[in-house]
Amino acid sequence: MAKLDFLGDLKRTHKCGDLRASDANQNVVLMGWVNRRRDLGGLIFIDLRDRTGITQIVFDNSSADLQTKAGDLRSEYCIAVIGKVKQREPNTINKNLPTGEIEVVAQELRLFNDSKALPFSLSDTGSVNEEVRLKYRYLDLRRPEMQANVEMRHKVTLAIRNYLSSIGFMEIETPIMTRSTPEGARDYLVPSRVHPGEFYALPQSPQIFKQILMISNCERYFQIARCFRDEDLRADRQPEFTQIDLEMTFPRQEDVFAVVEGFLAAAWAAAGHKLQGPFPKMSYDQAIQQYGIDKPDLRLPAMTEVKEAFTPENLHTLAIDPELPVVCVRIPKIGELSRKERDDLKPLLNAKSGAKMFEDFKRLEKSFPEAVAKIREKVKPEDGDLLVGVAGLPRTEKPSESKARQQAYAIFGAAGQLRLAIAQKYADRHGCFKKDDFRFLWVTDFPFFEWDENEKRWNAAHHPFTSCHERDMDKLETDPAAVRALAYDVVLNGVELGSGSIRIHRQDVQSIIFKSLGMSPEEQQQRFGFFLEALQYGTPPHGGIALGLDRIVMILAGATSLREVIPFPKTAAATDMMMDAPTPVSDRQLKELNIATRKRE
Ligand code: ASP
Repeated sequence: MAKLDFLGDLKRTHKCGDLRASDANQNVVLMGWVNRRRDLGGLIFIDLRDRTGITQIVFDNSSADLQTKAGDLRSEYCIAVIGKVKQREPNTINKNLPTGEIEVVAQELRLFNDSKALPFSLSDTGSVNEEVRLKYRYLDLRRPEMQANVEMRHKVTLAIRNYLSSIGFMEIETPIMTRSTPEGARDYLVPSRVHPGEFYALPQSPQIFKQILMISNCERYFQIARCFRDEDLRADRQPEFTQIDLEMTFPRQEDVFAVVEGFLAAAWAAAGHKLQGPFPKMSYDQAIQQYGIDKPDLRLPAMTEVKEAFTPENLHTLAIDPELPVVCVRIPKIGELSRKERDDLKPLLNAKSGAKMFEDFKRLEKSFPEAVAKIREKVKPEDGDLLVGVAGLPRTEKPSESKARQQAYAIFGAAGQLRLAIAQKYADRHGCFKKDDFRFLWVTDFPFFEWDENEKRWNAAHHPFTSCHERDMDKLETDPAAVRALAYDVVLNGVELGSGSIRIHRQDVQSIIFKSLGMSPEEQQQRFGFFLEALQYGTPPHGGIALGLDRIVMILAGATSLREVIPFPKTAAATDMMMDAPTPVSDRQLKELNIATRKRE
């Protein structure tokens, strides 16, 4: 091991990104890591790196000792350089570096720590296995790209905090050790030592606490809140994640929207983008009918329902169900697909949806010129656009009214999926998916209930504290499928950024909703007794929303995975590669907790 120096009283005067030509001839002290060393006939160059950037250090041959010491430096050695700033000769200026007009001529070198050979090169991670990066996260985070992501996260969070504080929101912490909240996923449980056999749950969201804070007259609450959901593993899902969670008293939906639009504009501004509010609004039904999905990507044109263009005979000849929608999907600029490319579109349609597709409008036009003329008139394609039709296969049985609606939505859904699949496949050709084209919208009036086919019962589509439209109250029991919730999502380019609702603030109504979700009075008392009690003390109308911070930062950082913007993420298998968690615990710990484990079956 090399002889190491102490920091002692040495104080750094500048950061590695600071120095410019105007600093020439100053004596400086820089500290950081060796990014790279180059030996060039008598001169040794070091790129010295800290969080702010890189400065070139030169060791000339004025001191043999210094040269020897510098010659021993390797990547990621941690050092201090005491030296003098020198303006570079014009032909050696490095235009790629903000400090490229100068270099520091070293007079003294201190070595604080050396470094083992690195498990991967910090300048080229393209080929590095992500698990290796996660295992050595402390090294991975030294890379400028990751430093930029960490900084972006800080700036965005700070901008949101400052904005919300400026309009009267208070940041209030709610407990991490709590009891189960009804967000619908599985809880992470924490055993209690002092109450053997009992467990806390980690919060899936601060939902009940934030509503209690409204009852407590905190008026405007927010929290950059860590949430935990033990859901099934998926590639880009994190078991713990961060939400921008907020709640306010006496809000109309529009008031919540304005708050969110305000803090998103602040977040986007922190990343150098200007956002134009207010965002467009669209009901859930409209979203399904025009985009086939409840999170429309507005960068692509909407779909059009075109059944009217066909005569009943046309529909019959084409073997299309006359009751189901006929949807025309338009994708700009990719109309000139080859025969083979058109054939390759077929597998993109969900075969189980009960839908069929017409991928060749020219052929359709030969047999049904009038229908196609009407479609063109309604859809108004531009030259070179691709049109694809999606329609329902004839049904053998006549469905009930609610089943018929489901089947119709399945056709819109299949068309919507196809639209996205084609658009993704040919993204390079149509060019609609521009990174900086931020197309936000609000989706409103979601269905209140979701039918759970396994359990054969209705579940709350958002969560059971969500209010339904007053006009739909009387349908809660008679026609649950038609009840609309005062729930809303904020959507960006096909991604749901957050969702929220106006809440129930009356105990009697909350009780009715619990009942319609199949909860007996006993179960209501046992799970939510304290809350039903609290609702009886002058609870104000209130509502709120929660947005995923990780996803927002990911978009603003231009990253492709949430793991790139979470400093210490879990893998897709929910493990922490660096700490190696989860792990078994000692028998003594288990005994203290009164817990016995058994072998996995
Ligand atoms: N608690 C909800 C969620 O996490 C958001 C809300 O209703 O405010 O999805």
